[in-house]
Amino acid sequence: MSVRELIVLGTASQVPSRRRNHNGYLLRWDGEGLLFDPGEGTQRQLLLAGVPASSLTMVCLTHFHGDHCLGVPGIVQRLSLDGVRHPVQAHFPASGREFFVRLRHASAFHDRADVREHPITSDGPVATGEFGVLEARRLDHSIDTFGYRLIEPDGRRFSPEPLRRFGITGAAVGRLQQAGSIEIDGRTISLAEVTEPRRGQRFAFVMDTRPCDAVYALADRADLLVIESTFLDEHADLAARYGHLTARQAARVAAECRVRRLVLTHFSQRYADTQRHRDQAAEEFDGDIVIAEDLARIAVPARS
Ligand SMILES: [Zn+2]
Repeated sequence: MSVRELIVLGTASQVPSRRRNHNGYLLRWDGEGLLFDPGEGTQRQLLLAGVPASSLTMVCLTHFHGDHCLGVPGIVQRLSLDGVRHPVQAHFPASGREFFVRLRHASAFHDRADVREHPITSDGPVATGEFGVLEARRLDHSIDTFGYRLIEPDGRRFSPEPLRRFGITGAAVGRLQQAGSIEIDGRTISLAEVTEPRRGQRFAFVMDTRPCDAVYALADRADLLVIESTFLDEHADLAARYGHLTARQAARVAAECRVRRLVLTHFSQRYADTQRHRDQAAEEFDGDIVIAEDLARIAVPARS
């Protein structure tokens, strides 16, 4: 059984607080480990979450404000220290490449990790593999910022009723899957006769931005949407000025995009708690709302 879950490493915008580390989000998606926006302290948060650095396969940065990237030096050095052999693909806005180069060479260490740089210059796919397609889209913040989404292609799954009807069980199911068809009592049965369409799962990651078309494109029918909700209604003017979302705006995106599970995060330290983030979001979105807390594990919702 493959694992698809989000491990929250940090949830604070701008500066960490007593309860919230700088940003950091690890998406475990089958054999992949996508680390999004590692802020300061991410290396230790991984330790507290019980996740080894060797589980990382990609690092995806939305932009180069410190709360989204100051964890890169620790992560890169840890990959080297632990002797992680597999390549780790790094995606980030091309305009910030000099920042990335500085971060990954921030101090002296025995640099042997295989970190491969993939600067992003425009909207579109940035990586493809067995996991599906990872896409980026430019957001609307005070500096160049890209959001991401991961899309698993639609597939097919076995449906129990026709399998039973044709008497296909056990090892025969595997043979049918491999060969594409199987002969039972002189009749050839194709995969299409015993399977049904299976919608691919979708994950979206939207950080610092004003509302814009790209936010909606990224969030479209996401099973799990992680989205910043820095401010509350009474500070909507600050959100607009500094290029952020309110909890209400984030929830509107989730509602319009038919998101299944909404994860709110990147909270301003001006708020003592996040109850009103939930309340204001719930007025717009009647689906599953999760207020992200450090070290929480949030499942990608099961296929419907
Ligand atoms: Zn931020």
